[in-house]
Amino acid sequence: MTPLIFVTGGVVSSLGKGIAAASLASILEARGLRVTMMKLDPYINVDPGTMSPFQHGEVYVTDDGAETDLDLGHYERFVRTRLSRKNSVTTGRIYENVIRKERRGDYLGATVQVIPHITDEIKRCIDEATAGFDVALVEIGGTVGDIESLPFLEAIRQIRTERGQEKALFMHLTLVPYIAAAGELKTKPTQHSVKELRSIGIQPDVLLCRSEQPLPDSERRKIASFTNVSERAVIASPDVDVLYKIPLYLHEQGLDEIVATQLKLPVSGPADLSEWEAAVDATLNPLDEVTIAVVGKYVDHKDAYKSVGEALKHGGLRQRTRVNLKWLEAQELEGNDMSALQDVHGILVPGGFGDRGFEGKVVSARFARENGVPYFGICYGMQAAVVEYARNVVGMADANSTENDKQSAHPVIGLITEWRTATGEVEKRDERTDLGGSMRLGLQEARLKPGTLARELYGKDVIAERHRHRYEFNNRYRTQMEDAGLVISAKSMDDLLVEMIELPRPVHPWFLACQAHPEFLSTPRDGHPLFVGFIRAAREMKAGGKLLKEARA
Ligand code: GLN
Repeated sequence: MTPLIFVTGGVVSSLGKGIAAASLASILEARGLRVTMMKLDPYINVDPGTMSPFQHGEVYVTDDGAETDLDLGHYERFVRTRLSRKNSVTTGRIYENVIRKERRGDYLGATVQVIPHITDEIKRCIDEATAGFDVALVEIGGTVGDIESLPFLEAIRQIRTERGQEKALFMHLTLVPYIAAAGELKTKPTQHSVKELRSIGIQPDVLLCRSEQPLPDSERRKIASFTNVSERAVIASPDVDVLYKIPLYLHEQGLDEIVATQLKLPVSGPADLSEWEAAVDATLNPLDEVTIAVVGKYVDHKDAYKSVGEALKHGGLRQRTRVNLKWLEAQELEGNDMSALQDVHGILVPGGFGDRGFEGKVVSARFARENGVPYFGICYGMQAAVVEYARNVVGMADANSTENDKQSAHPVIGLITEWRTATGEVEKRDERTDLGGSMRLGLQEARLKPGTLARELYGKDVIAERHRHRYEFNNRYRTQMEDAGLVISAKSMDDLLVEMIELPRPVHPWFLACQAHPEFLSTPRDGHPLFVGFIRAAREMKAGGKLLKEARA
């Protein structure tokens, strides 16, 4: 049985439970352990795939095509382990499983109840996701005291009782607010939150105290004595200017040692956190900075583009460049006032759905193409670039995606089922992959075309990226678009689907767009070749690209 670290949260939400859990995981990984992570979410949706990014932030996609909570993104950016569908489980999924078993007659006529049937299913999912690792961190979404999270808390309480303290550790994240009028940190909310947790039978082993200010020893002692947690296991987690400092802070206070001792983990030696130190150093001491416009639809809710924002920063980290993000509402560019794009060094159009703002994405692509500004299109951002090229270069004035205009005479982007050809190539693919009108999800391979910018950046012929989309480049327009100068730089392995497009370099310094979502595979330690290349191009633009453009004109 894999030793489990359960991470709960108290007092208020948004304390950064996912980041705290991922930070501890990264230290344990740095001590030579095979670590995995899991999120248990109390909401009833079966997965977050259908939830609005306005409410819930981005939908994060795993290799196996699971549509998950954005916390899985934090996990994968902090640890090397690649996660899957099993690592994100909601109440909806648990009930779905239990009800399916009930209908199949698996419970042999028993009355199906929260305890033991729901809690047993939760335990089964935890064991399934964590088997084979040296240690696993299991984050419980929500805040202790929520009605919805009770079955999860009951399940983890049972695990501890059944398996003992060497197999299960409770870490509770709380808030220690600073009350300016009194000039003091207040420990009462933490005391109450632990009391609540103990009332359902869970005594935390470790407290992680989020605060604006460092936690003085006197307060640490007070919290320890009120909560029955040992003083050295009351860990401070003050606000930080750089995210990557968190593993360093937690390690300094001995958190990994406390955990390794209680769970008797087979650590191989001290933690080597030099990669995180380097990330902090590169963030705090940049040699250059660029401004990138991100043209989207949910820009007031930046969590909707969490991975894109992070991947841009990682791209900068690799070259000690601070990346300032200028979030632009696509719809506001539709009036053709492009002044918001005048001073940026690169334009990124991320993924999206539906027609609101699509025209703003198209004009952004046009602005980038005509002015030699580096352009990076992701998914809908590629589709917008294709539509733009078809309209303004090829001359198909009403070109569109059928997502926005079913009547367009030139549906350059459409569902595969809509652009069936006489050759039968599409029927072939439908049979094999069941792509019909449903979402293409998860890791898929593509072959890069020799001599292209994409091939140069990746440095290899075959790549694999995660997908989440329904519409595709319409093959009927391939030749026409290529004849007009558009380069198709990557195709699916069977040659049937366009995966990436670009403009040749004498025509444009850096114009590249992909159907997949490379942002999901970027990490602060390694960056991602497309994002690194894009930021490098933005730096070149800043240094002299404008001059290049003038020289060409
Ligand atoms: N709406 C587009 C599609 O479904 C793009 C999706 C996306 O950007 N993730 O194909």
